[in-house]
Amino acid sequence: MVMVVKKLAKFICYFLSHQSIIVLTDLQQLYLPMSVYALRMDLFPYEPRKNQTAIMQTIKNTLNAGKTIVFESGTGSGKTICTLTSTLEYALENNKKIVYTTRTNAQQRQVILELREIRDKMKDEKDKIFGVGIQGRANMCILARDDPDFASGTAEELSKLCSNEKKKAKSAKKGKDQGCIYYRNFIGDKEKVDRILEWAKENLPTAEEFIEYCGRNKICPYELNKLLVRETSLIIVPYIYVFDMMIRNMLFDWLSAPEEDIILVVDEAHNLPNYIRDLFSAQLSMWMLNSCVSEAEKYGDPSLLGGKTHVSTFCKLLIDILRDLRDTYVYGVLESGVRRGDFKKDDAFIPSHEFESEILSRLKITSKSLHDIIGDLMAYGEKIQEYRQKENKLPRSYLHKLGIFLDFWVSLEMNQYAKLIVDASQGKNPRIESFCLDPSIGTGILREFHSSIHMSGTLEPLEEYRDSLGLSKDTEMVSYPSPFPTDNRRIFFVSDVTTKYSEIARDKKIIPRMGQHVTDVCNTFPRNTIVFFPSFNTLSMFRNKGGFDGIRRSLYIEEQEMSQSVLMDLVSDFKECGLREGDGATLFSVMGGRISEGMDFPAEQLEIAVIVGIPYPKPTARQRGLQKYYDLKFRKGWEYTVEAPTARKLMQSIGRLIRDENDRGVAIILDRRATRFKKYIKDLKESKNLLEDIERFMDN
Ligand code: SF4
Repeated sequence: MVMVVKKLAKFICYFLSHQSIIVLTDLQQLYLPMSVYALRMDLFPYEPRKNQTAIMQTIKNTLNAGKTIVFESGTGSGKTICTLTSTLEYALENNKKIVYTTRTNAQQRQVILELREIRDKMKDEKDKIFGVGIQGRANMCILARDDPDFASGTAEELSKLCSNEKKKAKSAKKGKDQGCIYYRNFIGDKEKVDRILEWAKENLPTAEEFIEYCGRNKICPYELNKLLVRETSLIIVPYIYVFDMMIRNMLFDWLSAPEEDIILVVDEAHNLPNYIRDLFSAQLSMWMLNSCVSEAEKYGDPSLLGGKTHVSTFCKLLIDILRDLRDTYVYGVLESGVRRGDFKKDDAFIPSHEFESEILSRLKITSKSLHDIIGDLMAYGEKIQEYRQKENKLPRSYLHKLGIFLDFWVSLEMNQYAKLIVDASQGKNPRIESFCLDPSIGTGILREFHSSIHMSGTLEPLEEYRDSLGLSKDTEMVSYPSPFPTDNRRIFFVSDVTTKYSEIARDKKIIPRMGQHVTDVCNTFPRNTIVFFPSFNTLSMFRNKGGFDGIRRSLYIEEQEMSQSVLMDLVSDFKECGLREGDGATLFSVMGGRISEGMDFPAEQLEIAVIVGIPYPKPTARQRGLQKYYDLKFRKGWEYTVEAPTARKLMQSIGRLIRDENDRGVAIILDRRATRFKKYIKDLKESKNLLEDIERFMDN
């Protein structure tokens, strides 16, 4: 019998290895990946659970083949430790370095904590197991951290600030500004430097602990990290260290390793396409132009075009053009001053050369003169940066930023960008934006690495991720099933409601009916519940219509503008209150937000998730541009830009319920359109009697 099973498994493996995507079954997890390269498992610090050996073996095989892998494995399945052990094993055996990228500092911390577990297991060879967590300069520069003005600096501004401080420190003379004290200690106290390096190697600190320790010792953690990075096989960094070319070059100089010796890991990879789009997009807002006017007036308002105009006048002209573009394309105002209708749009496309054509025609100048203006703005900006630096201020110049933006805007290759006028803040701060449609323009570097590993709990459909990032067609793509008992989770949807705009407008009873569902669930089950809305606007609409008024328990509401620390307090109060008072608490939040995408609610901290509506993207011009671009490039505009991101948002929110094998929870989707996501949510069931169905699940 065993032989038959093995043969069958081998056949399935052969068959699947000739398909582009692999979805593993339990049978394959037993026999699939043991063939190609032996997995030593020396480093793995726990008893491997279901899926984990398969994940590690697949990664090892991919590394041996020098290929790329994209895989999905549910939250709590141990992706981090599996990836860490298999890449470390390979890197140590083959003299490679791992650059492990994370989106948040919390994820970075998790990697270091897992690395400590590996090291504890490898007592005899513990010196080999070492990693360095690096954060952005805004966190690592102690000088910036202690000064609110510096703390607001961009990476580029802080880099300039730091070079200047170091220059002063190197040529420090008594009675003069001696530059950064943390750098002076770094170059002047070798004994202390060696002591801290030893401490770091011994204690494997998280980035926060390292910064804290260096702060107490009054020495620069950023400079010390450069030394540590050379000696380690594992560096954990935010995405920007790999996807911003300037910062990447700097990191690779520190690493002293060629690209072909780098293994890249992208954690929470579902964030990467949007992250790159943002990184490669640029915008110019009314606020920014007003700052340019103030800056120009403060620094003598230099002339442009040989005295034909002045910088502040030029910036005011740009403000007028911005306002006119907004009125024409977003508000739809005709030349006669009459509105075309109540459009309530947030953004609109603008013809590709309209902004610069307006500048040329209003100033009656040629393109060459516009380039001269751009050059002058950058030169003035640099002078202002130097001047501010001499005054010990952040080397920031809005005119310099304006010059850079205009230079980028006028030389833009249009086919991968959309030019937009955006008015998202009710007329207060309109902006023009060159929106990057194609994240693959930022991923060319991935082809240079030995391998790259992309993983997430919600990455399906994997082809969308591969195609969006322009990864090679022979990329391994694997979807691992959830390792947790399926009986621990139920997902219901109800058919009598929806957040579809046209239906809500037609049937005024839908919103109260949804409110009633939420109220009934909260008042019937004394369990901690999060109610996720598609957006803050929908959340406010429910709140304003009294949708929460009938709920008899403690309520917590996330606000869009909440700072991270206030949000963390709110969430921890929600968790505690629900457990303390025994009748559960309710937290109102949004899908795709900070809670649904990154926070953990183990055990009784969360047992019910109510999803109010399907979080389809808003049909903005930006969204339409994206859909059209993907239609032209892949013929999959709807699947790749609407359906896939919506499914991920749904799955991320539902994913808060189950974090380990003992967690139980029920998700309720209040929208009949949930059936369209059945291929992503296999265990989705319609509920005709919601309270009874939930009760039956809870009782079991
Ligand atoms: S040397 Fe370190 S502490 Fe000093 S300015 Fe540079 S990054 Fe900041």
